[in-house]
Amino acid sequence: MRLRNIPGAREQVKEDTRCFGAGDDTRGKWEEIFGRKAPVMLEIGMGKGRFIIDMALRHPEYSFIGLERYESVMVKALGKLDRMERDGIPVPENLRFLCMDAANLEDMFERGEIDRIYLNFSDPWPKERHAKRRLESRGFLEIFGRVLKDKGIIEFKTDNEGLFDFALSELEDSGYELVYLSRDLHSDEEEMKDNVMTEYEEKFSAKGNKIFKYVIKKNPDRK
Ligand code: SAH
Repeated sequence: MRLRNIPGAREQVKEDTRCFGAGDDTRGKWEEIFGRKAPVMLEIGMGKGRFIIDMALRHPEYSFIGLERYESVMVKALGKLDRMERDGIPVPENLRFLCMDAANLEDMFERGEIDRIYLNFSDPWPKERHAKRRLESRGFLEIFGRVLKDKGIIEFKTDNEGLFDFALSELEDSGYELVYLSRDLHSDEEEMKDNVMTEYEEKFSAKGNKIFKYVIKKNPDRK
């Protein structure tokens, strides 16, 4: 998601106390930031934040972080929370934001600091020469593996079959074990009970696109 540049977005994100970014000292400090000991769940590429806000409301027992690269997109999520507050809708206190490129995740998280990572409708980067930029590529899985705790989980949803097949092929010898796979998530009643829709999921499933999902678990013996 790349929105038109919004004047002042960078300053707004920098000043917002719910938002962290490069240069902030968060590594190994997330329990302190949330003010409690609770499992940490991270969405990478949250876009306008609908999924992570809904998840935080639905699961007060966990701490949630929404990560997004672009300030112009991040301010949309901040605006959503501000509107909720103005309308008297309870705003989740167990939610923080990170504005950065996921490639630098290890600057902001200690080894094993994250329990679960959500990848929702990641940019497909269809050109072969850009394959390394895909968040489901081996290189990213390695970075994620270092910040995830043992038996940590990654959940990935997309409507892009090519990206999904690529993601599956990247699992071989990756140190992750496949624990769930669906090529039509919305027809899996059991799995849909806990499904929280993302903005893109709503848009693409309404068009009739099938939603693909995998859940993978980090092997305890992974380096
Ligand atoms: N998860 C949302 C948005 C999907 S669009 C939904 O399902 O509705 C993908 C988002 O990921 C975009 O907003 C894009 O800016 C962000 N993104 C892509 N690569 C990223 C990276 N390397 N680091 C951080 N954010 C990234």
